[in-house]
Amino acid sequence: MGNGLPTERFVEKTIKRKATEMDRADFLAQCFKLTQEAEDRFESIWRRLSLSVDWNYRYSTLSPEAQQTSQWSFIQLYRSGRAYAQVAPTLWCPDCQTAIAQAELEDKALPTLFTTFTFRLPDGKSLPIATTRPELLPACVAIFVHPDDKRYTHLTGQEAAIDSRAFSAQATIQVPILADELVDPLKGSGAVMCCTFGDSTDVRWWRTHHLPLRAAIGRDGYMTTLTGPLAGLTIMAARKQILQSLDEQALILQQETIEHTVGLHERCGTPVEYLQTRQWFIRVLDQKGRFIEAGRQIRWKPEYMRSRYEHWVENLQWIGVSHVSAYLVFRFPPGHAAHVAHYCWLHERNCRLIRV
Ligand SMILES: [Zn+2]
Repeated sequence: MGNGLPTERFVEKTIKRKATEMDRADFLAQCFKLTQEAEDRFESIWRRLSLSVDWNYRYSTLSPEAQQTSQWSFIQLYRSGRAYAQVAPTLWCPDCQTAIAQAELEDKALPTLFTTFTFRLPDGKSLPIATTRPELLPACVAIFVHPDDKRYTHLTGQEAAIDSRAFSAQATIQVPILADELVDPLKGSGAVMCCTFGDSTDVRWWRTHHLPLRAAIGRDGYMTTLTGPLAGLTIMAARKQILQSLDEQALILQQETIEHTVGLHERCGTPVEYLQTRQWFIRVLDQKGRFIEAGRQIRWKPEYMRSRYEHWVENLQWIGVSHVSAYLVFRFPPGHAAHVAHYCWLHERNCRLIRV
């Protein structure tokens, strides 16, 4: 068993206390104790099952040795210029006010209002947009359509606009209409807003299409000054006001309640947001050849796992950023402890690829 969020959650649930409410040393002591007990239980079960395991190789990524290796590795990466801090989108819980990892998300299908409203095209015609997050309208930076969607192909490259005095510091929001394969032409009107940020697709589009950043929601979960008269409102209150404004402008075409999957923070049940925060990244994408070469030094059982590993390495894109607990193993520069990139490194000793 190892360090990281699953361990932190496991310990918090077992002792019924939050890590943030405890002294770090006390919490770490609990982690060591409980993971050791769990490891012993697993070993005894696996022994009873007669699993063929060389128990000499049992180790914990919570051990002082693993901590030293992690810290040593991070220092090497920092010195070689591979570790760098950057402001980047991350999952954020507005209630706990912390960056959170994908592993802490709980997907839940909730009834959500799906609203179709219109943007205005240069020729005066309407462009229908369907969204479950109208409160993100002030953060809209583009409208996307599918490149093969014949209803819209003639519109790509043009701009669409909406009067936004009631929900933005700007009088008009004017954005480009762009084409991208990730759009589902069958969902809603087939034209979708890209807001910074509503979901991971928005983050991807923002990166790949080099779009500007407009943050409508602050770290505290309240609307920012970007939203003009809505600044300081909660997300739900802003949603209500924007829908009311769209209704008054007679821009709403259709509304229906749908089952929509919402990402909740498993700790507190709050819907998560994507916000810009400062975090650490590790440059690894130029090392794919070395990772594949190292993989070929290993005897894989079963053999096909090697090609699975190689495909995984080849397809690594921008590596998703997550946080590694501030309370556990990884102690990084002050102020950045909670924001460490997911990265891959070759373990010095046994040359296995490990995801930290
Ligand atoms: Zn939370």
